[in-house]
Amino acid sequence: MKVNGYAATAQKSKLTPYSYELGPLGSEEVDIKVYYCGICHSDLSMINNEWGMSQYPFVPGHEIVGEVLAAGDAVKKVKVGDRVGLGWMSSSCMSCEQCMDGSHHLCAKSEATIVGRNGGFADKVRGHWSWAIPLPDGIDMSKAGPLLCGGITVFNPIILAGVKPTDKVGVIGIGGLGHMAIKFLKHWGCEVVAFSSNPAKKQEILNMGANKVINSRAPEELESIAGQLNFILNTTNVSLDWNSYLTALAPKGRFHTVGAVLEPMAIPAFSLIMGEKSVGGSPIGSPSLTKTMLDFCVRHQIYPEVEEFAMSDVNEAITHLEEGKARFRIVLKN
Ligand SMILES: [Zn+2]
Ligand SMILES: [Zn+2]
Repeated sequence: MKVNGYAATAQKSKLTPYSYELGPLGSEEVDIKVYYCGICHSDLSMINNEWGMSQYPFVPGHEIVGEVLAAGDAVKKVKVGDRVGLGWMSSSCMSCEQCMDGSHHLCAKSEATIVGRNGGFADKVRGHWSWAIPLPDGIDMSKAGPLLCGGITVFNPIILAGVKPTDKVGVIGIGGLGHMAIKFLKHWGCEVVAFSSNPAKKQEILNMGANKVINSRAPEELESIAGQLNFILNTTNVSLDWNSYLTALAPKGRFHTVGAVLEPMAIPAFSLIMGEKSVGGSPIGSPSLTKTMLDFCVRHQIYPEVEEFAMSDVNEAITHLEEGKARFRIVLKN
């Protein structure tokens, strides 16, 4: 099977048309015809080799929605013609403790869609059946791609932290991830406080469902909610004054980061001890939880705000994202 996609050929290169042969289909693999693919910051990190694990040429793209074109003879759960999504992960071993426990996203032998293999900025992509997530009826495929990586990344912490509908919660950083978090938490029933460093986004953020927007660059605004939040989700990857957010937590509150801050986070022990507070993090989420999230999205009509570009305009789309102009997630259409 020949795949036509767009590949980075070197660190920080523009993407150029690139074709490759997929080889024989494994018995547990599926080939997916790509309808739409979102652009995630991780695609940029891999193009730029920020994590030191990029191999070129490679085709980015891991927020894929499409249709199963071919299925190996041992494939379960999905069949040819089914509409599916494929996110950050493309396979897991299916036999380790984590896989047997339903936490396939924590499998040490898992494979990421764009690490050492090719992703979804293409007409086709391959993956293991376990990560080909069936799309619920009625889903808007033109907006669903970003749910497969960015969406599940902010949905999983809500489950992990046991957030209750009666909770008052905070979201730091209202970009691609943060704006999806606001929508989830709003529909969860929570009172949602958004922390943004960009006052120009305030009305948009309120329209997404936030009850209040706090300027994260104004310390007195942060102080005004000291001790009030049961849960704070950080979606930014920059160093912040972590202690002021721990101060904003109510006793027993949980601070959770999905933003991959590269510098160590300075957390004063007393800020945790006195109010029985905790700090945690998580990657994406399991295939099962991804399916649950998609059902929740269809039921409540929760979608990311997307800007659509043609797949052939992928370089323009990447520039738009790099310049910080994306409102709020970009999707490429085949
Ligand atoms: Zn991603
Ligand atoms: Zn495993």
